[in-house]
Amino acid sequence: MGNGSADGRSADGVMPRHARQAAAYRCCMDVIQLVPRLCFLHFPVGHAYLWRDPDGLTLIDTGLPGSAPLIAGAIREAGYQPADLRRLVLTHFHGDHIGAAAEIAGWGEVEVLAHRDDAPFIRAQAAGPAPDLADWEQPIYEQVMSQLPPGPVVPPRIDRELDDGDAAGFGDGAVAVAVPGHTPGSVAFYLPRHRILFIGDAVARSPAGQVMCGVFNVNRAQAAASLQRLASFDIKVACFGHGEPLTDGAGAELQAAAQRLPADSGQHPRDTPENPA
Ligand SMILES: [Zn+2]
Ligand SMILES: [Zn+2]
Repeated sequence: MGNGSADGRSADGVMPRHARQAAAYRCCMDVIQLVPRLCFLHFPVGHAYLWRDPDGLTLIDTGLPGSAPLIAGAIREAGYQPADLRRLVLTHFHGDHIGAAAEIAGWGEVEVLAHRDDAPFIRAQAAGPAPDLADWEQPIYEQVMSQLPPGPVVPPRIDRELDDGDAAGFGDGAVAVAVPGHTPGSVAFYLPRHRILFIGDAVARSPAGQVMCGVFNVNRAQAAASLQRLASFDIKVACFGHGEPLTDGAGAELQAAAQRLPADSGQHPRDTPENPA
């Protein structure tokens, strides 16, 4: 896949393909403040979010491998240091979410949290299950995979495995919400006091802005059920792994997406999120 030759060098033979992609990738992250305590770390693939509590910072997902320096820069831009990170929460095992987790887990007193059912895949103790692709997803999946930097993800440690309903320790009462389907252990984080939901890839937004079930799901029926469940939450802000976050009226958008779900799957075949993975 991609344009590089078999030895990993680009067509001009000078720069390894992954290095060139990483250079392009580094140029692209933007830091956007969504609400006073929440920053959106906008990556080309696999967004991350930074939440501030009085006792320190929480990072939700990490982007692709190589993104740790960018995230450190975002933390400094917010007026903190990487050592102020207290918590790293991982929504699921995919490399565009845990890519820099191993490095970031070493920044200081960082507790790494993930759902129990994705923990073996995050730790690379077992191979993560492949998505059950619908026919219309196949070409999109191949295109997206060809754009990702090659090479394995360094597996991070996990300090605490979460179950549905567990307190996550940040955001004035954040709770883990199991949302299986995209992966077996996909987990969202709900902050009831702030009406904010971090969703990972269970739900996404298309480039046109439409909220939809995430794509590339291990179990499409489960993914649809997870969207139905999330649509019942009282939220104002929704933070997606793919697609722009919603900072107002997110609950109504999720409810509308749940009502659009086909009975048998979880998505509309003509609509896909931006750079899904
Ligand atoms: Zn993703
Ligand atoms: Zn994913």
